[in-house]
Amino acid sequence: MLEHTKRDNITLAELAYANELAISGRDKATIDAFLDKILGAMQATVKTGLAAPTSTLPGPIKLKTKAGDVFKNAMKEPLPARRGIGVLSAAALAGSEENARGHLVITAPTGGSAGVMPAVIYSLGPDGAKKSQQKLREALLAGAIVGYLCKHNATLSAAEGGCQAEIGVASGMGGAAIAAAHDDPPQISANAAGAALEHHLGMTCDPVAGFVQIPCIERCAFGAVKAWTGYLIARNEVSANRRVDIDSVITALAQTAKDMNPKYKETSEAGLAQSLVLC
Ligand code: SF4
Repeated sequence: MLEHTKRDNITLAELAYANELAISGRDKATIDAFLDKILGAMQATVKTGLAAPTSTLPGPIKLKTKAGDVFKNAMKEPLPARRGIGVLSAAALAGSEENARGHLVITAPTGGSAGVMPAVIYSLGPDGAKKSQQKLREALLAGAIVGYLCKHNATLSAAEGGCQAEIGVASGMGGAAIAAAHDDPPQISANAAGAALEHHLGMTCDPVAGFVQIPCIERCAFGAVKAWTGYLIARNEVSANRRVDIDSVITALAQTAKDMNPKYKETSEAGLAQSLVLC
């Protein structure tokens, strides 16, 4: 894909648009309308989750929600960096808590990672970096390319690859999306995505009591923050010097998925699902 963008001097989003136009036969206005629907749903789930009063989530864990509290307190932080990370984390908690309530589920790429991309889009939109709607569309398309590559060359399924395939891929999608929204070249998107995914490799899936709550809800916040970290490292290094390319990371994801002990593949037989005692 990078070779295509180089050869035709186009962005990742332009490549994705060309693919959508050719495959679906729809016009750009129709594709944009669908992208806007997804972007709207992502922003809505964050806003609903942030506004929801603290409550207890369904299921035996009796986990309290916290997106609203984290958001309110983050907004009072005097230091911009603390406020930014706090608000981004709250947005991811909000999206994931909405999933856990059985409300809107944003599968980008999966239900377990429902908070990551919505938080990234929220952080790029009117309440964050204030990127235009067109830039948000381009961000979503760049993120979709990363999800596509992971789906077709590795896996998006925790039952096959553990949490690296869910939160890891979502974080990689987020890294590419942030770079695209900032008009960075495709190589920065690739490097940001690769960095974010790289640092989730090996992550297991061990949902407590089989519910997508612990560790999933907080893990979405970490995935969103790592998307930004991946972007900021990629943006601020000499991109040609990056030693680990995204193809190698996706290959490692596929290989690690094959080697991972089945106990860590969404079975709730090990890890936190075993060590955390529910009273
Ligand atoms: S721990 Fe398992 S269920 Fe939870 S987000 Fe990760 S992959 Fe999904």
